[in-house]
Amino acid sequence: MNPLCLVIGVLVSFAALPGFAQPYPKSAGPADPKLIEDLILANRILYQQGVVDAMGHISVRHNKDPNRYLISLARAPELVTAADIMEYDLDSNPVRDPGRRQYSERYIHGEIYKLRPDVNAVVHNHSPGVIPFSVSNVPLRAIAHSGGFMADGIPVWEIREAGGMTDMLVSNAKFGRSLAEKLGDKAALLMRGHGAAVTGKSIEYVVGRSIYLEVGAKLQAQAMALGGTVNYLSPEEGRKIEARRDYIRSWEMWKRQAMGK
Ligand SMILES: [Zn+2]
Repeated sequence: MNPLCLVIGVLVSFAALPGFAQPYPKSAGPADPKLIEDLILANRILYQQGVVDAMGHISVRHNKDPNRYLISLARAPELVTAADIMEYDLDSNPVRDPGRRQYSERYIHGEIYKLRPDVNAVVHNHSPGVIPFSVSNVPLRAIAHSGGFMADGIPVWEIREAGGMTDMLVSNAKFGRSLAEKLGDKAALLMRGHGAAVTGKSIEYVVGRSIYLEVGAKLQAQAMALGGTVNYLSPEEGRKIEARRDYIRSWEMWKRQAMGK
């Protein structure tokens, strides 16, 4: 046999072996255009509502494959367009060469989707009102009806426990996994000295929760500043509220604002 053919043959059979690193995971195909449209609007809404600034991101699970999710390439949320939306597998590998910078903290999304089949949308933000609660021993709790999803508790994730001294970014799967495990079955989690990760069963829910997590943090700080005893919602009240919760009216309004109408 020609030695060149032999070399090519060995390489081809090696590449076919299970576990051999293929360049990109397989795409689930084009996502529902409505999902992409809502994802773009959600980016704008989160900016308009003060949940994200130039940083922060939102993702949604792919409508055709629960093992894929959609998120923008690295861009300020207000500026995201359909051309920026990328598909990733749950290890947060892109399905094609993105050709541009990607969000370094996308592992937050992929690792939460792995552990939480009930979650279809995730937000990571640095919303300012919640950060004091991530560095204080005062827990963030549900103080108002709009924060019913907070009544079961909002854990605080400490990146030092996962990686010691770091730049505090969730820039690999190991940190993402640790964060997702700390989140457990809760709606949201604070990241010490950094921000929050928020989950929802849809884009509308994760946007609503992100907005009202920030509102709740401000209200709690105000209530505590009054100096008396604060009377929080009980977990049972929270569950009853959330059983009836929808964001239909709010989403319609936020969406109109985001579309500039
Ligand atoms: Zn961050």
